[in-house]
Amino acid sequence: MKSYNIALIKGDGIGPEVIDEAKKVLDAVSQVYNFKIKYEEYLMGGCAYDAYKNPLPEITIQGCLKADAILFGAIGGSKWDNLPRELRPESGLLRLRKELEVFANIRPAIVFEELLEASTLKPEVIADTDLVIIRELISGIYFGKPRGKDQNHGYNTMAYTKKEIERIAKIGFQFAANRRKKLCSVDKANVLEVSQLWREVVTDVSKEYPEIELTHQYIDNASMQLIKDPRQFDVILTGNLFGDILSDEAGMLTGSIGLLPSASIGEKVALYEPIHGSAPDIAGMGIANPIAAILSASMLLKYTLKETQAAEAINQAVSKVLKKGCRTQDIAHFGAEKICSTSQMGDLITECLERG
Ligand code: NAD
Repeated sequence: MKSYNIALIKGDGIGPEVIDEAKKVLDAVSQVYNFKIKYEEYLMGGCAYDAYKNPLPEITIQGCLKADAILFGAIGGSKWDNLPRELRPESGLLRLRKELEVFANIRPAIVFEELLEASTLKPEVIADTDLVIIRELISGIYFGKPRGKDQNHGYNTMAYTKKEIERIAKIGFQFAANRRKKLCSVDKANVLEVSQLWREVVTDVSKEYPEIELTHQYIDNASMQLIKDPRQFDVILTGNLFGDILSDEAGMLTGSIGLLPSASIGEKVALYEPIHGSAPDIAGMGIANPIAAILSASMLLKYTLKETQAAEAINQAVSKVLKKGCRTQDIAHFGAEKICSTSQMGDLITECLERG
């Protein structure tokens, strides 16, 4: 029987609550599909500061580096807000991403038919939307030098090397190859030289993937198209700044932050996490939506462990439960027949798996 090692980082706030449900679902699906998962738990964020005076202890880094994949909840909370920047929970996460060299952030935006009403956009616009945004994560304007500020002048540098563009472009084409074979690269090549290089390199890389239809859009047009006609997109490939903005915009297509998973991948171990934070306002109340964490576990199965049937079974189970009208409070206004707690939602998804 195949066996995998997953590093679990539950984190702070609702992190432990949602990761417990994701683990519940992983355990159930591994039995159905006959593989074994071993977990090692590590601390990161505020809880790690409390235990070690360090938001990312060495033991966590080493544990993550030897795992097959990492499943992470969320970190942060007001308790740690007054610490020096390098000791704050968020610094732990940024340092972990750096240690893992995860250069590609993958964020799917899938609109569940049952939750069409949950979006602020018209149902007929967003119905059947199924897209993924691939954002370059560790370069571009957030890291470019020189950068600085004085009283009269603030500046940053948006820079990409050919190598950095090539490696993220390859991830984009590989994702498109396993989907509907359409890749839209988003840049600002009409104004920025860095975007001109981006466009040239992406076009060059596309020659290795003749089956993929490549298009280009400027970021201003892409942000408009995304809410005008999101169904036109399959895979969107873009840089760090544009991706940061577009992925939040795409997130709003689906209605609740509690539904959205993500993956960060690179040369080493991949990190899977819901896009939401630690939600201190609802932590400990048992009402957090665990679906984003559960779908992050599904991405882990699909992209790292290649257990694609098990991943699909989780996605189907989530759909079935939503179809039955089961809702956590954040999505309670939309077709709810039964309001569930965090753990009830995990149980229901697990039951659907077992019967599936
Ligand atoms: P947040 O995502 O934690 O919460 C925003 C709102 O969404 C809150 O009202 C919250 O209750 C709700 N929400 C979030 N996840 C939910 C879920 N699964 N189910 C139901 N409702 C949910 O963002 P915030 O309030 O800006 O930040 C809170 C803390 O989280 C801060 O310390 C911040 O730094 C941290 N944070 C961490 C991450 C991360 O760990 N990756 C990401 C963003 C924010």
